Amino acid sequence: MSSTRHHPVIAAATQQLAQALGHENVRTDPQSLHAASFDNTRIPFPPHAVVHPRTEADIATTLQLANTHHVPVTIRGAGSGCAGAAAPIHGGWVLSLAHWTRIAVDATASLAHVQPGAITADIDAAAAAHGLFYPPDPSSVKYCTIGGNIATNAGGLRAAKYGVCRDYIYALEGFLPTGRFVRWGGPLRKYASGYNMKDLWIGSEGTLGVITHATLKLIPRPQARHTFLLAFPTDEHALEAAVTLLAQHRTPSVLEFLDTQTVACAQHRANAPVFPEAGASAPPAILLVEIDGAPGALSDDIAHLRAWARRHTPAWRETADPAEAETLWNTRRTCSQAMYQLGNAKLNEDIVVPLHAYIPLIQHTREIHARTHLPTPTFGHAADGNFHIHIMYDRNDSVQRLRAQEGIRLMMEKVVALGGAITGEHGIGIAKSPFLRLQHTTAEIDAMLAIKHALDPNHILAPGQIFDITNVWDHTPVTTPLPWDKH
Ligand SMILES: Cc1cc2nc3c(=O)[nH]c(=O)nc-3n(C[C@H](O)[C@H](O)[C@H](O)COP(=O)(O)OP(=O)(O)OC[C@H]3O[C@@H](n4cnc5c(N)ncnc54)[C@H](O)[C@@H]3O)c2cc1C
Repeated sequence: MSSTRHHPVIAAATQQLAQALGHENVRTDPQSLHAASFDNTRIPFPPHAVVHPRTEADIATTLQLANTHHVPVTIRGAGSGCAGAAAPIHGGWVLSLAHWTRIAVDATASLAHVQPGAITADIDAAAAAHGLFYPPDPSSVKYCTIGGNIATNAGGLRAAKYGVCRDYIYALEGFLPTGRFVRWGGPLRKYASGYNMKDLWIGSEGTLGVITHATLKLIPRPQARHTFLLAFPTDEHALEAAVTLLAQHRTPSVLEFLDTQTVACAQHRANAPVFPEAGASAPPAILLVEIDGAPGALSDDIAHLRAWARRHTPAWRETADPAEAETLWNTRRTCSQAMYQLGNAKLNEDIVVPLHAYIPLIQHTREIHARTHLPTPTFGHAADGNFHIHIMYDRNDSVQRLRAQEGIRLMMEKVVALGGAITGEHGIGIAKSPFLRLQHTTAEIDAMLAIKHALDPNHILAPGQIFDITNVWDHTPVTTPLPWDKH
């Protein structure tokens, strides 16, 4: 669909852009180019310039010049994406919106008006000041931007009860790839006018438009929560218990699963068992369950959860104390980093499977473990079937690299065969591009490409993302530390 654009043409266009926007807003120094060259996949693709627009007119000018000179433009929030979607794989200009951070809460209407660079946790904090709640909570909530969340349709731990980013967007404003301003929806609870372009932009990974403003739905803030941690001898026992709970139609706000491989990593890192009462036995599989609501309204659900826990394992703890709940959450928070004791590289997938496929899926991860001789620690959001499957390997070992690649392909084939989805929250970007055709028919991909072409006739916005195959394992990641690495 695209090819790397001609460098001298881009250099001249960059000069023209710097004259229009001010040289200080069009950066070409090596540090700026390096920092904007990769996201959390850490695979670098250097841009020619990083653009920091001050006004909407600056964005329009950038896009119009990009169309005139065929310069690729990649939009960037905080760069915490896990699919490489913010990486400028064909160079060109990175349009950075991380400094567009304004947040205004309309408490009467339960709305928030936000600019795209607003950090997700800051939006929820602003809502909390009015007793309101912005529920979507990716684990990166302290770092990621709402623009990135919208463009990836981010999910999170609370999606089980509260849904994902898409469920909280009333309206979006911004620019088509051609540089024309558009507004989709409004600060209204109902809107049925014309095609639903708002939802087309959500999850389109920066390929169909630049979001400059969003109107978000806020809801009343739950004032109480109750947390359970349950330990099980095997992954299957834990998943069976999760499925039983969901079948009873008691939707917890959080239902997280950690398999025995993941718990082993966390225990090793903490040098302490996650569930000391279980003794010195093999690492358990874990479920973390949380319910929330109005104080005094949780007692029925708590009693129900206790009875359910008792039926499934003798090893469980519960608390209503927020500080103690934090300690129960420790394992989950640290498990992603803890995995690096198993290998210096990680293929990190975010697949989704239906409820009936939880156990076949976890068994398949262990089959891949046995076949590739590589660890496959898995954890995830058991309430919506969105599991993070990892293959850990040594990136300096070419045999391991090939085995990891084979393992991921087998996993993706299995996920699709089980009726699942190859991504539930990270998006396709470049990381899942080799598997897009497992999920979608040619007719489906052609329809998506027709939309892309209609809105972006010169293919300047994030060219090569989603549809062109990029084998991420063929690239060498950077070792630059990122803000979220310490967690
Ligand atoms: C430790 C960690 C935990 C994570 N946990 C989760 C999780 O639980 N759930 C989850 O969903 N994700 C998770 N992620 C992934 C990531 O945080 C999300 O994908 C997040 O939405 C990306 O936001 P960002 O601001 O970093 O976007 P970026 O990475 O900068 O960009 C992501 C995509 O959004 C596009 N984009 C950004 N801003 C705009 C805009 N204004 N207009 C149009 N397009 C735009 C970019 O072009 C790109 O395609 C996690 C990441 C890390 C590092």
